[in-house]
Amino acid sequence: MASYFDEHDCEPTNPDEQYRQNALLELARSLMQGVDIDLGPDDFSEWDQRLPPPAAKEIVQNLPRAVITPAQADKGLKCPVCLLEFEEEETVRKMPCEHLFHSGCILPWLGKTNSCPLCRHEMPTENKEYEEFKKDKERRKQQDHRLENLHGAMYT
Ligand SMILES: [Zn+2]
Ligand SMILES: [Zn+2]
Repeated sequence: MASYFDEHDCEPTNPDEQYRQNALLELARSLMQGVDIDLGPDDFSEWDQRLPPPAAKEIVQNLPRAVITPAQADKGLKCPVCLLEFEEEETVRKMPCEHLFHSGCILPWLGKTNSCPLCRHEMPTENKEYEEFKKDKERRKQQDHRLENLHGAMYT
């Protein structure tokens, strides 16, 4: 008899992560339908639990454009927000993570928060407190890393 894991090892991602991603996409979709999203109180100490602030305007304005190739159109490539298939030669916006969206779908979203609704890739923001929070998080990660290296050097 096949084990649970044998039967399920074709799962692309774990269900939790999938749920988080879907939740973000849900938010992006409700925004497209004109629903105003409440991003919670302006309490900067809890960035971990909140959507990050909007992407920097300059970055959003300069978000690269891409033209859908016949191969992409043939594959039925869709905009992850509105789920409409892209048409050949349609001009779309390309996020740094390479995900493609309609301008009308991704631009309002980036005016709310800085991450890709599909993979959570983050763009720089104009919010100093958030950028500090991010730097601080990065510093702590590096410190942990250094400690691990030090530990490794001492005990191997
Ligand atoms: Zn779209
Ligand atoms: Zn992405």
